[in-house]
Amino acid sequence: MAEVTKREMIDGVCKVCDFYKENDEQLECGAFKIIKILVEEGKLRMEDIYFARERLGSQR
Ligand code: SF4
Repeated sequence: MAEVTKREMIDGVCKVCDFYKENDEQLECGAFKIIKILVEEGKLRMEDIYFARERLGSQR
């Protein structure tokens, strides 16, 4: 199981979240925890997250 750092998760997931606050990075919502487990278990790659982020960007 590959460890994923909180920083990687914040950069990959939180920074596109409407609730993200740069000065408050302590809280971890359920989606954050679930995505972290999926990445650590190799069921989801960070590349997949960044691909999804690109799609989000094109829809906004
Ligand atoms: S922890 Fe969850 S709610 Fe908070 S910024 Fe990250 S994704 Fe958004």
